[in-house]
Amino acid sequence: MTSLPLISVDPDARGRRPAMPPCHLADLDLPGRQALVTELGEPAFRAKQVSNHYFGRLVRDPAQMTDLPAATRERLAGTLLPTLLTPVRELACDDGATRKALWRLHDGSLVESVLMGYPDRVTVCISSQAGCGMACPFCATGQAGLTRNLSTAEIVDQAVYLAGVAASGAVAGSPPRLSHVVFMGMGEPLANYSRVVAAIRRLVAPAPEGLGLSQRHITVSTVGLVPAIRRLASEDLSVTLALSLHAPDDELRDELVPVNQRWKVSEVLDAAWDYADTTGRRVSIEYAMIKDVNDQPWRADLLGRLLAGKLAHVNLIPLNPTPGSRWDASPKPVEREFVRRLRDAGVSTTVRDTRGREIDGACGQLAAAEDRDSDPRAATA
Ligand code: SF4
Repeated sequence: MTSLPLISVDPDARGRRPAMPPCHLADLDLPGRQALVTELGEPAFRAKQVSNHYFGRLVRDPAQMTDLPAATRERLAGTLLPTLLTPVRELACDDGATRKALWRLHDGSLVESVLMGYPDRVTVCISSQAGCGMACPFCATGQAGLTRNLSTAEIVDQAVYLAGVAASGAVAGSPPRLSHVVFMGMGEPLANYSRVVAAIRRLVAPAPEGLGLSQRHITVSTVGLVPAIRRLASEDLSVTLALSLHAPDDELRDELVPVNQRWKVSEVLDAAWDYADTTGRRVSIEYAMIKDVNDQPWRADLLGRLLAGKLAHVNLIPLNPTPGSRWDASPKPVEREFVRRLRDAGVSTTVRDTRGREIDGACGQLAAAEDRDSDPRAATA
């Protein structure tokens, strides 16, 4: 739920009803894949073999699936592993530790994922929708609106693809195995609920059914769709919930996060605490620090009072200014004072690193960059 771009490469596509992509094995559980393979006239165990290549070995090239009969390899892989994401551009920064991937979907929409390497882990930030309908005014993606939900496999494939990039040793100074996934790319994950939950199940199922990640290493971000938060709590999943709060009072949050006009701060936090009680997982409170908008000392104190004693951690996010935007990042002394007040209130607080800024890979920057690239007027601006 941050701010990755959506630019249709086909101007004629605007206004058309969005089409979902072809079915892929990651859309299906193992029995579903077996049924599909059987329909092709192949033995059911072929589903496990192809799944093992995709999830276990991170291989999608039929030529490398040498345990499949040569005569049916292409057909099996073509049916179970249709191309969903076509790489358009890959950019690296932070000395190779951050890599942004821009993908074209089958309908021409563009979405992005970001791979981030750390000494002890590798994290991928993935998109759940093409565009976003939540209209947060400080977010570049929010300005473009929603084109469509991604399919389960389009979501999963971002992680699998970048797991392969990490496994190739391309992320400097990090372990080769993808360990963490955050749903903080383009879109509001809980607005694409069933596909996102299915994607989580694929990501955590052991190979060959899925990618075998730990549930505790998956974070789902939301602006606060209360019924969906409550539903997620009942899924018997131990994923981390990240709540994009951005303001502790309804007056400001109504403006910064328009969905607050439907579910107020108190309702959203109640749902978050119920989620923490049910799952035992600490809720991450995301708060973009916006200069002279939400960074006043009294708002830090109010936030501290709302969160004191709760199973919560505050993640302050230095806003990524987008060209031409009226929003700017809070000055560092203001940020430090905000942190101090929260900590004095007994609230665990950190400031998120600004990975990816050089490549417009951090929140709120990518759509702006794409617009610059595609708008001829930008050249003279
Ligand atoms: S939920 Fe808001 S901040 Fe997140 S992508 Fe959508 S518009 Fe942007």
